[in-house]
Amino acid sequence: MRTRFKPWAADLMKAHPEILIPNPEQQKGKWHEVFGNNNPLHIEAGTGKGRFIIGMAKQNPSINYIGIELFDSVIVSALETILEEEGGIPNLRLLRVNAKDLTEFFEKGEVDRLYLNFSDPWPKKRHAKRRLTHDTFLKLYESVLPENGEIHFKTDNRGLFEYSLTSVSEYGMLLKYVSLDLHAGDPEWNIMTEYEEKFSKKGQPIYRLEAQYQTNKA
Ligand code: SAM
Repeated sequence: MRTRFKPWAADLMKAHPEILIPNPEQQKGKWHEVFGNNNPLHIEAGTGKGRFIIGMAKQNPSINYIGIELFDSVIVSALETILEEEGGIPNLRLLRVNAKDLTEFFEKGEVDRLYLNFSDPWPKKRHAKRRLTHDTFLKLYESVLPENGEIHFKTDNRGLFEYSLTSVSEYGMLLKYVSLDLHAGDPEWNIMTEYEEKFSKKGQPIYRLEAQYQTNKA
């Protein structure tokens, strides 16, 4: 997701280091201090404008959340939404970083769950390594999740979903949940992302999986 250049974004981001953490590598191993509690930490890689992570943080106040996004012009929209919330959202922080550098920001076991929502599909075979469910990324996530940690993934893209099912299975993860039409059951716990709303309005099915790392891989 890219939006037009927003020259004011950098200043707004700098003005709110309490939400958009400026040097996240300095908090590695200390995120519980940032939040001021020992609640579980769930992160979303590729958070976009933050609709999902903001909704999750409001729905689950006893879980801490961090939204990770690559672009200023996108994450600044999440920041603006948080600033509009009366009283703020105390259990939510944002990082404007590349998800491929996760181990610079989190210790092993510091993240309890990782969400991927509508990740860029990179349909060309030669770009497969860029898909956020490629095994190099699965290895990276394993370095910050606890043993038996989980990845929850949603997409409208059938090709990426098929690829991801194979990728997590070949990695030795346990598939705990698979849906080929998430909205058919209308689950009340589901928080829609921006892309999810856009694609489901067009009548496209939404695919979802939950995969868990296994301690004793075959
Ligand atoms: N998750 C949102 C949703 O479902 O509406 C946004 C989906 S958008 C297709 C994918 C987002 O992931 C973009 O905003 C993109 O900038 C971000 N992204 C892609 N690769 C990333 C990476 N390596 N680290 C952080 N963010 C990334």
